[in-house]
Amino acid sequence: MSGQERVSTRLIVDCVRLEAGSVDRIEVARRCLLDDPGVQGASVVDGVVEVEATVRAAGGAYCAVGRVAGTWTAECRRCLGEVRGPLEAPLREVFEWTPTEGETWPIHDQRIDLAPAAREVAMLALPLAPLCSDDCAGPVPERFPTGPAAFAAGGR
Ligand SMILES: [Zn+2]
Repeated sequence: MSGQERVSTRLIVDCVRLEAGSVDRIEVARRCLLDDPGVQGASVVDGVVEVEATVRAAGGAYCAVGRVAGTWTAECRRCLGEVRGPLEAPLREVFEWTPTEGETWPIHDQRIDLAPAAREVAMLALPLAPLCSDDCAGPVPERFPTGPAAFAAGGR
């Protein structure tokens, strides 16, 4: 339990002990590197998220319940400046020997990989159209009025 933690694009949880019944849950608290950290102008800073989850056996499947946390970065939709914010989203995923595409994740060799599930959760938690501040007026407010203040001012 010491030394530098290796950040990998996989977050493998070995569920053999769950299967054998020697434990009833496995606690996971690890970081992983997302394969592709962003979508449409928003991404996870450094592509790294922290995953905290409890994995339990549930009738031939495994359930991972916890959270995904990190920091997102995106372009302000008005001034295109960088905006950052905390990313935190609940993780609740099911792993099956015969997964259902788009709904559950696969089990390989009694191991599950939380990384793809964490990525999906993180992508859904990214802001769609962030603003650097609620009253951001855009890059050149005099010429390109975009903020609410522009209407109040009445133009020329
Ligand atoms: Zn802005």
